[in-house]
Amino acid sequence: MPRIKCPNCNSSNTCRIMYGEPAVDEKLEAEANAGRVHFGGCVVSFDDPNRHCNDCETDFDTKARRSIDEELHGR
Ligand SMILES: [Zn+2]
Repeated sequence: MPRIKCPNCNSSNTCRIMYGEPAVDEKLEAEANAGRVHFGGCVVSFDDPNRHCNDCETDFDTKARRSIDEELHGR
C-alpha cells in the first residue's frame, strides 16, 4: 500500500484512523504502537478525517474534501 503524505508537513509517516470502539487485541495494539493505526475515538462527525500524521499530529482526509464552511453553507 503506498504511503499517503501529510498535507501539512509532507511526511509519509501517516496511518489510518479507526473510529468507534474496536476490539483491541494484541495485533491491533501492536499496530497502534507501531504508528500504523490511530484511534479517532467514538465520536464520528460528518467531517471525519480518515488519516492521521504521526509527525505533526494532524488529522486529514484523503478524499477530495470540502471545507467546514462549504458544508455549512452548501456552496
Ligand atoms: Zn504531518
